[in-house]
Amino acid sequence: MSRNDDSIWWRDITKNNLIDDFVDSGFSGCFSCCCKNGKNILFWHSLWLGDQSLRELYLDLFDMSTIKNCAVADVLIWNNGKHYWELEALFRGGDATVFSDGAATDFSIGAATFIAVAAVRGLSCWPRFCADVNSYIPIELEKDNFVWRINPGKEFSVSSVSNIINDSKSFVWPTHLFILLKVMWELKIPPKIKVFAWRFFIEKIPSKDELLKRGVTSILNKDCVFCGNHPEVISHLFFNCHVVKEIWKNMYGWLGIKEVLNGVNFLDFGVIQDKVKNANHRLKINIVWIAIIWCIWLMRNSIIFKGEAFCCDVVCSNIIFLSWRWLSFGYSKFSAIYYEWFKLPLSCSKAI
Ligand SMILES: [Zn+2]
Repeated sequence: MSRNDDSIWWRDITKNNLIDDFVDSGFSGCFSCCCKNGKNILFWHSLWLGDQSLRELYLDLFDMSTIKNCAVADVLIWNNGKHYWELEALFRGGDATVFSDGAATDFSIGAATFIAVAAVRGLSCWPRFCADVNSYIPIELEKDNFVWRINPGKEFSVSSVSNIINDSKSFVWPTHLFILLKVMWELKIPPKIKVFAWRFFIEKIPSKDELLKRGVTSILNKDCVFCGNHPEVISHLFFNCHVVKEIWKNMYGWLGIKEVLNGVNFLDFGVIQDKVKNANHRLKINIVWIAIIWCIWLMRNSIIFKGEAFCCDVVCSNIIFLSWRWLSFGYSKFSAIYYEWFKLPLSCSKAI
């Protein structure tokens, strides 16, 4: 599938193991996988055994699995060219209490695994699950392929994304959202950022409120990491928090677009598309907009996971640098050096 005439975006997806990013982004059903060595295919989530994922087919087993995001290769053992499926590894280190009504709370990990595996084996679906997986013959020395399922030629294209949204009843996105997704999709930004922006627009960012809705109970502090005064919901985290507002204010001050859009409007990606008539300016503003939400998310994660302190200047510098990098890599006509971009973002490199 990964041929020279594929879109750059698609090539990046297949080369960079981004498939796991699709699990929650509405994309996983759009690919089928030709599993070879299984290194880039998610065991539970990807479509590699028929038309349904193993997660959908064997929900009970998926719930009991202790490694839900493993690759197919993680449960494959190779020995002199022969393969073995080590399916019990999917339940290793399981919480024995799940399987034994609380009776085994003090068991060691080994014992817990034993009980977990025994419980799994006791399920009526276990033999069918083993037979399904065992019927598949992987190829040790070949890389996995991915096939875009939507259009007949199996080529990935922007128009096929449009078709999914137009045709599929499972997508219930309103028209204006689809237009925003299309605008974002056509920006020449790194694939990982596109996936993030896609999730952002369809409200699948794993913010604390989203995780709580999904039943994650390990979140001790539900508040915004920036101000500590408000529950972390997406609208607050990215737009309404007074700390984050400073970032937006600095950035649109830097862009010099105060006269065109007021602060509230600038927050809305859709309004930019309507109000900024100059296509060159619009493109740059769109890219900066995506860089802003990305850098806010990175800062939020650094505070939570690395204990870093918030610094508005750091976030703003990152936004200016990243947007310049994306423009320089994605648009050959954009030839501004960093200093020019920093000084006069909208007037440098007039045509892109
Ligand atoms: Zn806040």
